[in-house]
Amino acid sequence: MKKEREEPLELKLLKVLKRRTVLNEQLKRRIMALEKGYEGERRFDKVFQGSLGNCLFLNDLHFSHDSNYFQIDSLLISALGIHLYEIKNMEQEYFMEDNKLFKFPRYEISNPLNQLSRTELLFKQMLQKYELRVDFNPYVVFINPNFTLLQAPINKRIILPTQINHHLQSLSKKLPPLPPTKFELAKEILSLETTERVIREMPTYTFEELRKGVSCLRCGGLNTKREYRMIKCLTCSNVNSLDESILHTIDEFELLFPFERLTTSIIVNWCNQEISPSIALRILKKRYEMQKTKRWSYFVPIETTKK
Ligand SMILES: [Zn+2]
Repeated sequence: MKKEREEPLELKLLKVLKRRTVLNEQLKRRIMALEKGYEGERRFDKVFQGSLGNCLFLNDLHFSHDSNYFQIDSLLISALGIHLYEIKNMEQEYFMEDNKLFKFPRYEISNPLNQLSRTELLFKQMLQKYELRVDFNPYVVFINPNFTLLQAPINKRIILPTQINHHLQSLSKKLPPLPPTKFELAKEILSLETTERVIREMPTYTFEELRKGVSCLRCGGLNTKREYRMIKCLTCSNVNSLDESILHTIDEFELLFPFERLTTSIIVNWCNQEISPSIALRILKKRYEMQKTKRWSYFVPIETTKK
């Protein structure tokens, strides 16, 4: 059992937006940073999940406690203990001084240990509130092998790239089968999750100003052509059924306009008139028959990073 990791909502949203409008440089950099972070998390999953048995990985957890939003990159539950990981995918040389983290030669960035302490505190408080007795060990894991921490302090909360193997070995040697109580605990923790997602740099946009069109399921591009009941991508040559492509394009609309009501005329317009209102209606009905799992709510956080 594990909770799978998904592409972060903010990244998904910005990528869809990028194809339908011109993003400023700041947002382009944000996309790169999010992609880098997501790449690190997937690297962590591969290394950690590939090495350990008899345990649960709860990934990408989102909670809101007393109006404080926080997120856990990975929570490992084993018979012998619980480990909380904050995953960082930085590269190149860094050093720590007076509890501050600098990129060499001297560019200060936010210290992930502070973020870890905040997450630890909020998670503890939340568990206490629900009377879940859980002890856990928090870590920042620097997953990128090209990361170097010069004059690294001795800190049990930091796992450097060269320490990952040792950390995994120390865990995997002694993991007995997971007792049922831990499965119960995992379920309880998952039930506390929030559907809220933080969008740190929420761009402003309107329906009118965005490019319209049916998007390709493979590359996401709008350079597509309808051929009867198929949609062909002129960029990557991918071919998908009309219905699948329209549903995917509707997903993108819902991602960008979560509070907007779906109507046939909006969908026809959003798909750049590639389909008739009757086809839009038929596909929309199909959509409403499907079980809707989650409806995201967006808000812009007051505090997520320090400079
Ligand atoms: Zn394509």
